[in-house]
Amino acid sequence: MAEMIKSWLECIRCGEKYDFSEIRYTCECGGTLDLKRDLSQVDGRKLKQMWDERWGAKRGVYASGVWRYKELIFDCDEQFVVTRQEGNTRLYDAGKAGEYAGLKNFMLKHEGENPTGSFKDRGMTCGATAAKYYGAEMVACASTGNTSASMASYAAVSGMKSVIFIPEGKIAYGKLAQALAFGGKTLQIEGNFDDAMALVQDVCRELNIYLLNSINPFRIEGQKAIGFEVLQQLDWQVPDWFVIPGGNLGNNSALTKGLQELFELGIINKIPRIAVIQAAGSAPLSKMWKEGADYVAVKDPDTIATAIKIGNPVSWEKSLRGIEWTNGVVEDVTEQEIMDAKAWVDAAGIGAEPASCCSVAGAKKLVDAGVIKADESVVGILTGNILKDPDAVIGYHKDELGHMGIKGTFANKPQVIKAEVEAVKAAIS
Ligand SMILES: *Cc1c(COP(=O)(O)O)cnc(C)c1O
Ligand SMILES: [Zn+2]
Repeated sequence: MAEMIKSWLECIRCGEKYDFSEIRYTCECGGTLDLKRDLSQVDGRKLKQMWDERWGAKRGVYASGVWRYKELIFDCDEQFVVTRQEGNTRLYDAGKAGEYAGLKNFMLKHEGENPTGSFKDRGMTCGATAAKYYGAEMVACASTGNTSASMASYAAVSGMKSVIFIPEGKIAYGKLAQALAFGGKTLQIEGNFDDAMALVQDVCRELNIYLLNSINPFRIEGQKAIGFEVLQQLDWQVPDWFVIPGGNLGNNSALTKGLQELFELGIINKIPRIAVIQAAGSAPLSKMWKEGADYVAVKDPDTIATAIKIGNPVSWEKSLRGIEWTNGVVEDVTEQEIMDAKAWVDAAGIGAEPASCCSVAGAKKLVDAGVIKADESVVGILTGNILKDPDAVIGYHKDELGHMGIKGTFANKPQVIKAEVEAVKAAIS
């Protein structure tokens, strides 16, 4: 596009508009902000043609599966762009996981194939770019793991310092390892994720550090590219459903925001339904949805799917608005359902971390309930890599998660045998 699209920040609660020349994460009223753009003069067909021409770019900004869609991500000067050629992740046939879910046409978009192993890289490339655009030297986030791994990497490649606030208790090993390895200043605080989230917002305000949680509107803009890329991989044929895990609820908000923009531009003319899946032990949105109740945060969220162990998600309003727009649904799944679904995602040869497998567990539950029909086309988002949380994998397959109430239903137990051919024969027959 020769001309940049006019854009601004807008409060999703009261509609107040802000120029984004100044750093701002929330409205004066406390509402979260959207990056809005005036699409009335934009030719959707030209945009789509341009994106198709960029597909397969070998180098430069457009080799990224996020910046390929730059016009609808953050149309800043290229000198600010911080990229690791994120995105460009595969869309798999779900194989055995599809049979398990009871679906004939089930695809899995593997966001665990991003540079640091989760979809967070899509939001982070855009957030880190915004940090550069604002001239920040230090960035911070509260994190259950993947956000910190991603932020530490993007800060390192672009020469910024990073500070990470991690809740006490267990954080998945793979994620902590990355954060430390990439040089993030890692602070473990007393309290859970929600406490860390509240603290980091105060710290950023007081110490003039740039905040890179998904409350940051630029993070959401980058994450929209998951949906864009799925549709481009499907030659812009819209599936009937997207199924996606929900923790802080930024990712599903991003997905629906992107779809809304494509719809407004006439690039798609069907709206897929969104199913957001929470872990039963940390499911404030699902509770609200099912009971028609007011929003109430969950006090002590708990789940083996640590990436979504969040009781007070910052983006619940954005999320709800998007789900309603798509005529979507919210569901929650038990620990056992998550880990059994994971066993099938893994056994299909694809593999993903526990939170990701809410997509498959949720799809199965919704098929069983008749909400999703067996012959509908469904895209599940796998949000993170299988190696992020090896403890969960080993624990399940050795059937050692009893203390969490999880049985190794489909366990593939390692066996100890004598070093003799006869013993091998007995073991593999
Ligand atoms: C962050 C994360 C989620 C949750 O995404 P939200 O935007 O917080 O809802 C799910 N799965 C994985 C692997 C994650 O890293
Ligand atoms: Zn407001």
